[in-house]
Amino acid sequence: MNVDRIQIVRDADNKNDYILYLMCTSFRLHNNHSLEHALEFVHATKKDLRVVLYREPEENERNNEFFRHGVENAEEVLAPITNHVYRFDAWNEELEEVIANAYHVVKDRGYLNAEKAFERKVHALSDEYDVGLSIVESDVFVPVRIASQKEEYAASTIRKKIMSRLEEFHDPVNTTLEWFRGEEDALGVLQDFILEKLDHYVDRNDPSKDYTSGLSPYLKYGFISPLTIHDEVVYFEGESTESFIEELIVRRELAYNFIYYNDKYDQFDGITYDWAYKTMNQHLMDEREHLYTKDDYINFRTHDPYFNAAMKEMVHLGKMHGYMRMYWAKKIIEWSRTYKEAYETAITLNNYYFLDGNTPNGYTGVAWCFGKHDRAWPERPIFGKLRYMNANGLKRKFDIEEYVKKIERLVNQ
Ligand SMILES: Cc1cc2nc3c(=O)[nH]c(=O)nc-3n(C[C@H](O)[C@H](O)[C@H](O)COP(=O)(O)OP(=O)(O)OC[C@H]3O[C@@H](n4cnc5c(N)ncnc54)[C@H](O)[C@@H]3O)c2cc1C
Repeated sequence: MNVDRIQIVRDADNKNDYILYLMCTSFRLHNNHSLEHALEFVHATKKDLRVVLYREPEENERNNEFFRHGVENAEEVLAPITNHVYRFDAWNEELEEVIANAYHVVKDRGYLNAEKAFERKVHALSDEYDVGLSIVESDVFVPVRIASQKEEYAASTIRKKIMSRLEEFHDPVNTTLEWFRGEEDALGVLQDFILEKLDHYVDRNDPSKDYTSGLSPYLKYGFISPLTIHDEVVYFEGESTESFIEELIVRRELAYNFIYYNDKYDQFDGITYDWAYKTMNQHLMDEREHLYTKDDYINFRTHDPYFNAAMKEMVHLGKMHGYMRMYWAKKIIEWSRTYKEAYETAITLNNYYFLDGNTPNGYTGVAWCFGKHDRAWPERPIFGKLRYMNANGLKRKFDIEEYVKKIERLVNQ
């Protein structure tokens, strides 16, 4: 394992008798560098291993169910390495006790603000009780703070910094032959993608087709690592594989870079560039032909059948085709009284309904619609210099009516 994945926050200064792995973003056994690091401690110190599975519930029960299913066999598959598996969904005294009585804690790196807050509590407790602490980055190919030491401007500025280090961080670790249920499911989805869709990935933008991997919810819960996905697809050389790796590694890790270095990634006034705020201010009073509310959106009550179909995919199926996500957020900008209101509506819907919501990708995808990681475009009403998308573009490029039919079929089956 590349040791640069590990940040030793403090060494242990106690006589406690177990190593604790605090699994909170990488819910898997394969290519889990935190688990590998914890086991290295176990071998070096001859102490026992204990594992905590920590995840705070989301508002949407569909997401919680997806997570619970993915880890339902955790005790069983961890049994060969530990009989002490705890589950927590909130910070409490019992969890504090498990942490305070450990010799050394190994924790997955968290990136979102709530995950950082959790990390600070663990850190404070380890200081108070002289418990060792390491933080490990296993959910990205290249650790965020190694790839770049600053918030990057665009994919073009981070691409080389990441892609030039793939070999160095190609450090697969496979601890066991057992799999969490979510890992098994993720591998099934990956195999299906490779067999049926990877060849067509260059045409992924067509919403009427189903050429993308569907792996984002599995990546969100850490049921699969980008390293595993990379290693399975990399043998299939060609333009499709290159585009897929660009999305999986460069775009995804650009999103992690944004969230890691920008604490205001979830507040309207912190998400984008000066030119974008300036142009939005200049167009704030432009007349809006249509104004809709969140209630209109979730009840499919806009005049736009493509937007309504995208909302049905979101509400009923917990996902949305990637191209339609851009169109969807752009329309919310067009149909909201203010840009701030549009941002808040988009983020609320995104994080509640998507199985892959509440991730660096989600915050970054919505911010992109407000100019982040993008450039200024020719000026037009409401959007100013923000990139504009319209229904005619969908009709021109794709068989968008087929997308509407496809969603009706999926929703009604
Ligand atoms: C407004 C908006 C909201 C979005 N919300 C989310 C979200 O909540 N969660 C989420 O995971 N993604 C989000 N995205 C990014 C992207 O649309 C999804 O990651 C992708 O559609 C997921 O489908 P897939 O796994 O089949 O992707 P594939 O095309 O198969 O890509 C493979 C993986 O690459 C990564 N990836 C793909 N496209 C992007 C991208 N543009 N930016 C960063 N990483 C990418 C994802 O991890 C994805 O699973 C959003 C994009 C926009 C424009």
